[in-house]
Amino acid sequence: MGRLFLITLFASMVQVTSAQQVFHRTTLLMGSRFDLTVVAANEEEAEVFLDTAIAEITRIERLISSWDPNSQTSAINANAGIKPIKVNKELFDLITRSIAVSELTDGAFDISYASMDRIWKFDGSMIQMPTAEEVKASVEMVGFEKIILDSGKQTVFLSQKGMKIGFGAIGKGYAADKAKQLLMGKGAIAGIINASGDMNTWGKKPDGSDWKVAITNPMNKNIAFAELPLKQGAVVTSGDYEKFVEFDKVRYSHIINPQTGYPATGIISVTVFAPSAELTDALATSVFVMGKEVGIDRINQLPNVACIIIDDQGNIHKSEHIKINEE
Ligand code: ADP
Ligand code: MG
Repeated sequence: MGRLFLITLFASMVQVTSAQQVFHRTTLLMGSRFDLTVVAANEEEAEVFLDTAIAEITRIERLISSWDPNSQTSAINANAGIKPIKVNKELFDLITRSIAVSELTDGAFDISYASMDRIWKFDGSMIQMPTAEEVKASVEMVGFEKIILDSGKQTVFLSQKGMKIGFGAIGKGYAADKAKQLLMGKGAIAGIINASGDMNTWGKKPDGSDWKVAITNPMNKNIAFAELPLKQGAVVTSGDYEKFVEFDKVRYSHIINPQTGYPATGIISVTVFAPSAELTDALATSVFVMGKEVGIDRINQLPNVACIIIDDQGNIHKSEHIKINEE
């Protein structure tokens, strides 16, 4: 009798400690929608986790924003062609890694693309195509090799006047990685940081199954053509169909080819899988610029990285290491 009671008590204790639930919060950060998901024992614990993640993303935004005139990034930009700026290690390292991605992608990815946002605007304010001269002049201010880093002094110098850097293609991924690391360190056993489609997951659902991510076809957003389990990794889709300008019925996307100064064409969406959201984010943008052949070829050379491309004809292309059920 006593023994039976003990077993029942034990069983109910296990149930209490393992009664993990999924909690969500949606918020606007870095000018984008963030959907945060955590697995926690109760609402109080979940609130602490979610507040922690939001504080971390807000902190990163203050550091890397090129809109905020008080950020270190703005100080670098304001001193282009004038003088090197001392920054904190976190920003210095992010810029160092961004330049490494530029090298990996032959310059398709380039944080100094940002000077071109003086001629390409995707906020509805653009009323005509920039002239060929304007485009040519803007390209001259772009080039990751003109970002001079001094690791001893921890300074960043944009060596040409008019140069500008921006983290639009890597910042959300970086923030998602940092928020995930912080929450894991605080004991959150599982979760998803979804920064407008830049997703980073860890752990499993309370029922023991993997988080799944649905990949939709941008030609028809209601149809998911693949549902993939995500284990510990990140997945990012680039190709924001809401961010473009149209002239003479041609759509110009917000991803710009740093070599030509014109928006990338031929691809409408790129989904990349990789271990970190930062790399995934940067590579998705890069593949857009490199195009499907070069892009897939480059992705195939990288360990633990895979991609799915949808071209402007609606055709699906994928890298070697991916198996999906196409329709
Ligand atoms: P989204 O998350 O909006 O789908 P991406 O992650 O692909 O987009 O980033 C696009 C943003 O990156 C642009 O809005 C711009 O700020 C910036 N960007 C555009 N072209 C480049 C480029 N060639 N290299 C680096 N950043 C770029
Ligand atoms: Mg990106």
